Amino acid sequence: MPAARSQANGCVRAISRTAGSAGWLLAFRANSRPDRIVENARANRPLFARAIAEHEALMLESGAARYLRRNGWIKLYRSEAAFEALRPDLELAREFGVPNEPLDAAGARKLEPSLNPVFKRAVFWPHVVSLSNPLAVTKAYAARFAALGGVTLKGDARSLHRSGQGWRVDTEQGPLDTSEVVVALGPWAPDVLEPLGLKLPMQFKRGYHRHFKTETSAPLSRPVVDVAAVTSLRRWSRAFAHHRRRIRGAGCGSHAGAVRPS
Ligand SMILES: Cc1cc2nc3c(=O)[nH]c(=O)nc-3n(C[C@H](O)[C@H](O)[C@H](O)COP(=O)(O)OP(=O)(O)OC[C@H]3O[C@@H](n4cnc5c(N)ncnc54)[C@H](O)[C@@H]3O)c2cc1C
Repeated sequence: MPAARSQANGCVRAISRTAGSAGWLLAFRANSRPDRIVENARANRPLFARAIAEHEALMLESGAARYLRRNGWIKLYRSEAAFEALRPDLELAREFGVPNEPLDAAGARKLEPSLNPVFKRAVFWPHVVSLSNPLAVTKAYAARFAALGGVTLKGDARSLHRSGQGWRVDTEQGPLDTSEVVVALGPWAPDVLEPLGLKLPMQFKRGYHRHFKTETSAPLSRPVVDVAAVTSLRRWSRAFAHHRRRIRGAGCGSHAGAVRPS
């Protein structure tokens, strides 16, 4: 009984949260129409097109270039229908100068021999890069920032307020005054921006993932996404090979509210 009650309470909480974000979800749905996706992709492209070159320069400078894997990624499709539905996306990607190579199961297994051939088709995206160790890259960037004279202070960003012609934020080392501020709080950005009258259409999407050890005899050398499983909540949907001996399975996401950072 206690377990059943707690599940029921969980459902009520989930429903009330969903009701709270219904407007956002409807807008999200409207923006997920094929024509809007293309429009958004065109708007994002200039930014995304610079991302790899900018990070590569930073990685070289920070001594982290060894974590950059330039061997692309593979998406797997378990049915011909799922693959056929993808054709407009492949054409749009080519228009943006993002090459992709449709493969059959044998072609994909030439790239990743450990894949179990439970899929019918695959697409290899050769220019996609990935990181073998994202945490090491973040630490290398932080060390480089400090080496260049960057200073890190801790404080609650919600204390940001106007002060004269500039801005002031409270830190554990005292107040800090500055003329410009970059708000990089991820989904918590509205905490700071809304009191300043700036409304961002942002919502929390909580993701779930798990790490699995792989057999030494069956490694993956690049990220592999099993697209068919994305629609199934019971199966782990994606396998990202962050490390040679570890697979990260990332599954569903939920609009389940925020967890406040400590
Ligand atoms: C489970 C999961 C898996 C993911 N996997 C991938 C992946 O494989 N590849 C990928 O590219 N992306 C992945 N993402 C997405 C990626 O993590 C985010 O896009 C990225 O972290 C966003 O970076 P950010 O710097 O904008 O925000 P965040 O990384 O969210 O950083 C915001 C920071 O602000 C801090 N903060 C919040 N409020 C305050 C406050 N009041 N005062 C001070 N500090 C505050 C938070 O503690 C946090 O450190 C994943 C996300 C999740 C949840």
